[in-house]
Amino acid sequence: MLVMDTILRVVAYGRDVEAALEAALTEARRLEALWDRHRQGSEIWRVNRSAGSEPVSVSPETVALLQAALQFAELTGGALDVTIGPVVDLWGFGSGEGRIPPGQLLREALHLVDYRKVRTDAERGTVGLAEEGMSLDLGAVAKGAAVDALWSVLKEAGVRSALVDLGGNIRLLGSPPGRPEWLIGVQDPRDPSRLLGYLRLAGGAVATSGDYQRYFMVGGRRYHHILDPRTGWPAAEVASVTVWAPTALQADALSTALFVLGPERGYEMACSLPGVEALFVLPGGQVKLTPGMQSVFRVNPP
Ligand code: AMP
Ligand code: MG
Repeated sequence: MLVMDTILRVVAYGRDVEAALEAALTEARRLEALWDRHRQGSEIWRVNRSAGSEPVSVSPETVALLQAALQFAELTGGALDVTIGPVVDLWGFGSGEGRIPPGQLLREALHLVDYRKVRTDAERGTVGLAEEGMSLDLGAVAKGAAVDALWSVLKEAGVRSALVDLGGNIRLLGSPPGRPEWLIGVQDPRDPSRLLGYLRLAGGAVATSGDYQRYFMVGGRRYHHILDPRTGWPAAEVASVTVWAPTALQADALSTALFVLGPERGYEMACSLPGVEALFVLPGGQVKLTPGMQSVFRVNPP
């Protein structure tokens, strides 16, 4: 099933799970319609169109997602910044037609990237952007938030054992039938058809950000979709980051942010956050794991 430009996979065990799966799919479509900035009339499309003027009324889940995204921006010193929209547009990652933008245009677009200029008001239910030309792009967090919402729908429908996967953003519910742990493959960023290894997890959520997920090549160089908000260029210090965290939103936001922060600062941040573990794959193929990740990662297939 294609949702949010990627594949939605829901595995649910138990009797009579069809209704729960149907409800989860409906929820996925609803959130996609709220958060896709390219969809005319979506809440994020309306917020972007009103940049520089009045804040826009949006649903509570949209305010909540933005407030969470702003907290992650604060936590990561702006490595994650959902106002990256103008820069993403210049690189053409949203449209699928990648190109290296002229430096002058990139500098101008970077002036419009600043999460501190997002205004959210939970009481009024509004979101606004302070300057004309700014635009939100929720590509780094929306899938994780959607996975958490689908997970809640399944749980409330009485499902005890399930895995929700939206484009590599995974959340686990209960345990698989007859086994204590789920096995989650970690792809090799230089050969995504191959697995580097597995995570054996009893719960929580996993997300991977990788330079192999959306990219184009020019002159033998890879230009990919995870951009450093300080420079406007693809972050180059790692090839992929996999994060294990309590919720899919945390895993999604942090995998993008740690990718930008790189294997030194990103690693330190992962170690400092309770319940968060990370696996970095460097461009040369070396793997760097936080201690908690080391204890759940296995190189060999089971
Ligand atoms: P992910 O696959 O979760 O790492 O998210 C990557 C997507 O988020 C990109 O395709 C862009 O739409 C957007 N993005 C890229 N760089 C950033 C950034 N530094 N902060 C927030 N969003 C970003
Ligand atoms: Mg992300």
